[in-house]
Amino acid sequence: LLRLEGVGVRFGGRTALDGVDLEVPEHRTVCVLGPSGSGKSTLLRVVAGLQRADRGRVLLAGADQAGVPPHRRGVGLMFQDHQLFPQRDVAGNVAFGLRMRGAGREERDRRVGELLELVGLPGAQRRAVPTLSGGEQQRVALARALAPQPKLLMLDEPLGQLDRGLRERLVTELRGLFGRLGTTVLAVTHDQGEAFALADRVVVMRDGRVAQSGTPLEVWGRPASQFVARFLGFDN
Ligand code: ATP
Ligand code: MG
Repeated sequence: LLRLEGVGVRFGGRTALDGVDLEVPEHRTVCVLGPSGSGKSTLLRVVAGLQRADRGRVLLAGADQAGVPPHRRGVGLMFQDHQLFPQRDVAGNVAFGLRMRGAGREERDRRVGELLELVGLPGAQRRAVPTLSGGEQQRVALARALAPQPKLLMLDEPLGQLDRGLRERLVTELRGLFGRLGTTVLAVTHDQGEAFALADRVVVMRDGRVAQSGTPLEVWGRPASQFVARFLGFDN
């Protein structure tokens, strides 16, 4: 579904992405791991069309996305810093993409209820965003990203601020949900357990390049370099 070919992005003198090749097959989940500053968020922003690539190509379902604006790409992105609309209540945030798609009021209310239930915030429809904790805001942002059922769902540290118990429950439920809906997912995470549980394939980034990619068993079982081994927490 998604294919990156030699994608490069520079900010001034700094190279954020340096010739990234990557593939996300339909109905699969790919998790991107890597140290802070290795280019993970930039990668998602390029695919979403929020950041222009200086070189290389982004293809969705075989179509080159150069010049295609974000809202025409059929991708959903949940940002690392979630960026909810502070002046809208929880339901208004979650329903945003549904409204854009022209869903009627009844359908919106039903979907919002289901999604809030899923992320563990049942009945939070009328809460004001500034009254939510960081983790609650993150869960609302996750519900908002899931709502329009994009073909490609991209999540940037979706569960980063949540405690372990909630994270484990959500990972299990998300896995089931992606399976049922046939969602294709590209997710950035710092949490190796999360990547291992969610991913069909894992991509480890280093300094804007792909250091290794493979199935979780391949990557954890046979790290391709000392960098990957160290990053995964093996001693050598
Ligand atoms: P983290 O795990 O901390 O979120 P990351 O892997 O997501 O890190 P990116 O946000 O993709 O990293 O950033 C990669 C590099 O590009 C960093 O050096 C960052 O400072 C730089 N960068 C990202 N966005 C911009 C920007 N808009 N302008 C200038 N530099 C940027
Ligand atoms: Mg980031």
